[in-house]
Amino acid sequence: MRWSRFYLYTTREVPNDAEVISHQLMVRAGLIKKVAAGIYTYLPFGWRSLQKLMAIVRREMNAAGAVELSMPAIQPAELWVESGRWQRYGKELLRIKDRHERDFVFGPTHEEVITDTVRRDVKSYRQLPFNLYQIQTKFRDEIRPRFGLMRGREFLMKDAYSFGADAASLDQDYEAMRAAYCRIFEACQLDYTMVEADTGTIGGSASHEFMVVADTGESAVVRCPSCGYAANVEKAETRTVEAAAATEAHPPQALEEVATPGKHTIEEVARFLKVSPKRLVKTLIYETEKGLVAALIRGDREINEVKLLNHFDVEHLALASEEKVRAATGAPVGFAGPVGLKDVPIVADESIRGLTNFVTGANKGDAHYVNVNWGRDVDLADWTDLVLVTGGDPCPRCDGTLELFRGIEVGHIFKLGTKYSEKLGCNFTDEEGNDHPMIMGCYGLGIGRTVAAAIEQNHDKDGIVWPRPLAPFEVLLIALNPEDAEVKRTAEELYAQLQEKGVDVLFDDRDERPGVKFKDADLIGIPVRITVGAKSLADGKVEVSLRRDREKRLVAPGEAVGKVMESLGR
Ligand code: ATP
Ligand code: MG
Repeated sequence: MRWSRFYLYTTREVPNDAEVISHQLMVRAGLIKKVAAGIYTYLPFGWRSLQKLMAIVRREMNAAGAVELSMPAIQPAELWVESGRWQRYGKELLRIKDRHERDFVFGPTHEEVITDTVRRDVKSYRQLPFNLYQIQTKFRDEIRPRFGLMRGREFLMKDAYSFGADAASLDQDYEAMRAAYCRIFEACQLDYTMVEADTGTIGGSASHEFMVVADTGESAVVRCPSCGYAANVEKAETRTVEAAAATEAHPPQALEEVATPGKHTIEEVARFLKVSPKRLVKTLIYETEKGLVAALIRGDREINEVKLLNHFDVEHLALASEEKVRAATGAPVGFAGPVGLKDVPIVADESIRGLTNFVTGANKGDAHYVNVNWGRDVDLADWTDLVLVTGGDPCPRCDGTLELFRGIEVGHIFKLGTKYSEKLGCNFTDEEGNDHPMIMGCYGLGIGRTVAAAIEQNHDKDGIVWPRPLAPFEVLLIALNPEDAEVKRTAEELYAQLQEKGVDVLFDDRDERPGVKFKDADLIGIPVRITVGAKSLADGKVEVSLRRDREKRLVAPGEAVGKVMESLGR
């Protein structure tokens, strides 16, 4: 492709909404153009990269036995009513009406449509199992679209859906997808980790996310360097951290109410009472669609709200307003406690079970209880794991210590089970003639997000450093002074030879100053570069270099193509 005939415009300007480097570089290097918040045009240069990724994804999906189809973006509301998600999906679901005032959605995902298709075609165990996939445009009205293609509102996703007769068949499909995802991210040369993920309100028995390691990632992940345990913090467990004091003999002492004027944070109360925050029990009051709930956690720890959400089986959960806390506890925020708390279900984190003589709020302004003891002062029946795991916590699987890092979730695979097949009546008949709901899995992979993540991981101060498999072009051929007849002739010859060899080459034949061409070359980050300039050509040489190390190798024009092929590993 000749740059003069291509459509690629770079810019120095960093858009002010571009917080992360991949977003900045995707705009500056002419890959994407914003049309509205979270909605982008994929410009030709960006589209080439997305297409390379899609080719890798298709290759690996096909190799894993999945079959491609393409479903509509617009879906009738009836299917969403049937699955129950018309009510539950919330504001991320873009709802639209046609001219007859009938309700539709712009699909954020395709469980409903695929299950509807399959229930109408498949009746017998003999037709199972199979796995259908597509690469298609989704719309999610994200509350905070940001980071360019990483969290868009309209975005491309590869989504696959497997259907089988039993759990063993789902295990096989799940394993095939897991392995295919590993091959895809390896083929893209990404530094990634697979982690255990929360199955949340979707339920099901297992779920894993694929995280591209990056400091700007929106997900927090823990990993054990000793045994390899890795999980999204939303899901992560730790060995129960017993309060240090719990192991010591502490006979219960008399419950006492103490004045703690104006002390409502854990730190303030701990300092004021001269006790470790580990001996305080924090009581948090949350609002859910089922009413208020109280959660207890050790003073120095945070609550994992996803665990809490799952525990109470609710969709929405948020810290209760000052007013509601007051109504429930009789005290301002900061003084709630389990002693005497009525009409609010209480759940406590396992790690505080062993505490004795601890401190809680007294459900009274400016007062706390000291020497609170389980059983005598508070009789709790509901204990579970609620702690938000963090770096330095003990690994739940071995005696190692967890490390915290950030990641970009590029893929998510899920054992769905019968959630959608039951709701939509997607059944098959077994050998004995009995009906069962099909067992499903679903497997998502973000196309735009993966390319953005690749840039997040592969750049330097001058621009993108493409991993070759995702690079829009493999080779950039620069004619430094195209008005020079010898330069022009040599560059044209090299261009023709490279094309003949099937190399993806962008030929910078523009009438621009060398400085502009070099700056652009660094910014757009094509892996291999050949530079043809009057000066080196006078010595019978052209320059071959790699974007990654920028080391220059002078070679005779006749050897340049061979050198390039070698660099490309062909
Ligand atoms: P997140 O927690 O980041 O919102 P999700 O759990 O909602 O992701 P899934 O429903 O599992 O995402 O979607 C599958 C894949 O689609 C994700 O792993 C991600 O790569 C991609 N994806 C999801 N939401 C977006 C988005 N708003 N923009 C771009 N890609 C997205
Ligand atoms: Mg989401």
